[in-house]
Amino acid sequence: MKTDVERISGDAGSCCRRDFLATTLAGLTLASCNQLIGKEDVSPINYSAFPIWDSHCHLSSIFGNSPEEKMTHFLKIADVTGIEHVVIYMGWPFVLDPTPEILKKQNDQVLRAMKVNPDRISAYVYVNPNHVDASLNEMDRCFENKGMVGIKLWVASRCDETSLAPIIRKAEKQNAVIFQHTWIKTTGNLKGESTPMQLVELAKKFPEAKFICGHAGGVWELGIRAIRPYSNIFVETAGSSPTAGFVEMAVRELGAERVIFGSDAGGRSFASQISKVLGADISEQDKKMIFKDNYQKLLMMN
Ligand SMILES: [Zn+2]
Repeated sequence: MKTDVERISGDAGSCCRRDFLATTLAGLTLASCNQLIGKEDVSPINYSAFPIWDSHCHLSSIFGNSPEEKMTHFLKIADVTGIEHVVIYMGWPFVLDPTPEILKKQNDQVLRAMKVNPDRISAYVYVNPNHVDASLNEMDRCFENKGMVGIKLWVASRCDETSLAPIIRKAEKQNAVIFQHTWIKTTGNLKGESTPMQLVELAKKFPEAKFICGHAGGVWELGIRAIRPYSNIFVETAGSSPTAGFVEMAVRELGAERVIFGSDAGGRSFASQISKVLGADISEQDKKMIFKDNYQKLLMMN
């Protein structure tokens, strides 16, 4: 039986996993994909054993001047890397503490992008706990689109602030996923940037809500340990280098069913992020769950 690497490279036994990850996948950046698009001899990589849903995508850093142009280009790159469904949030440019006007503008950009292929694109509503009323209004407005399946909390305000409560309550009522960016920076987090430990404090207050710990806190060894006892927090794989051991530890400590694939494209390449799961020393069944099944199940949970 062929290994994952052999299936993709078509080169049985000539390269070890480490070499493969270091060269083939990590080297295939979105920028290089941008150059590949339009060339006749590029055929999609066969990931058929692992249909992929990418739970973490953005419109920034993607070629194009309009949401439609960016999304069309984005889906072409998704095709090359074998991704069948994408979840997008936040428009462009990135703003650390968006005003109500910017929230609306960026959610509109996302709503427009979704129309490019509604069967293939879902999205989260971008909210800011420093503007609670505006965020609640945006949730009302955007959740009318059935493809809006969650909310995105970034770095405007820490997630253990009490101001989040009405936003979380509404998300829970809507059965929406709550995605919180988390990081543990050795140089110190931004003022409003949350750690996985702070997400735990929030999740304890709302045990019925569904949280995703974005980036696993960057320092994934600490992030995974922090969320381990809280079954309503899922860990997400996006946005760091494809380090060996990350996905293995997440599966070992949380169970494969609490691990969800995300890339953070276009800030990161699809390929480098896919390699974290594809190259992990876990079962084929676990990979299948992480790439798609867990996330689909999470969206359907009541
Ligand atoms: Zn992101």
